[in-house]
Amino acid sequence: MSNQNFRSILTGSFSTPCADNPTVAMIEAAYRHAGIDARYINCDVKAAHLKAAVRGAVAMEWAGFNCSLPHKVAVIEYLDELAEAARIIGAVNCVAIRDGRLVGNNTDGKGFLASLRDVVDPAGKKIFMLGAGGAARAIAVELGLAGAAHITVVNRDAAKAETIAALVRDNTGSDAAGCPWSGKACIPDDTDIVINATSVGLGDAQAMPEIDLDTLAKGQIVADVIPNPPMTRFLREARERGCTSLDGLGMLVNQGVIGVELWLGKTLDAGVMKQTLSDIFGASDA
Ligand code: NDP
Repeated sequence: MSNQNFRSILTGSFSTPCADNPTVAMIEAAYRHAGIDARYINCDVKAAHLKAAVRGAVAMEWAGFNCSLPHKVAVIEYLDELAEAARIIGAVNCVAIRDGRLVGNNTDGKGFLASLRDVVDPAGKKIFMLGAGGAARAIAVELGLAGAAHITVVNRDAAKAETIAALVRDNTGSDAAGCPWSGKACIPDDTDIVINATSVGLGDAQAMPEIDLDTLAKGQIVADVIPNPPMTRFLREARERGCTSLDGLGMLVNQGVIGVELWLGKTLDAGVMKQTLSDIFGASDA
């Protein structure tokens, strides 16, 4: 009789398209490093099959799953409970399954915050954020819950910026304002943290959000959500002006760490994850 256990813990991701999502490589490398017998299955789930996929995960006793585009809002109707930030944000990208109950979380903003906390505590800080999409919304809510003093959200579509600002004002202790973005954005003098939460720079090392670079000030923290390439032109320009840069890899890695903590109650090695992503995307020294 063998005493070996041939049953792996199952986790994974539901999205479509999914072939370019590197999370599986990052998390499975960290599972192996920790000696955890778990798998992370990257599943292409079309919108019409989301309900069946969620039921399948419960039926197969998965520990949990990530969901990415286009399922972050649609998945909510299949869940039993929402964590506070996920409820405020109105989107879920990480579901934990415990005793058949599904609990939705949002790790986008939490991953960013964990990365930011390596360099600064956002409590009491003034923040200038470019972009008002899903990533910006999650980051703004977490910054608000973390006690930021003020968040300015600028976006080409000003209504989206104001929606996020109102969400922060109504659900957290922070003040916030939404502003239109036309021409070069100027960073106010008293800004502590500048964040690019637009998709500008994704897959293009020369693309840069339209800002007046001369309004960046030495000593500011400048963060980018773009994970690939990690060293964006925005970050390079900021570093040349004496700012501290923070790349989008840290946000992605910390989302993985937080997700596995929610599913398995174990903290994986962030260094192993970061190295795996760096090997895939190209090294970052941000
Ligand atoms: P969305 O499509 O929801 O939002 C995109 C945002 O970018 C909008 O505010 C849009 O403005 C703005 N934008 C796009 N092009 C331009 C432009 N040329 N000039 C100014 N603004 C522009 O995307 P997400 O919020 O989901 O994702 C944004 C980025 O964040 C993506 O590149 C994604 O890869 C990255 N991301 C990184 C994560 C990580 O872990 N590192 C996690 C999640 C996302 P408008 O509304 O006016 O169109």
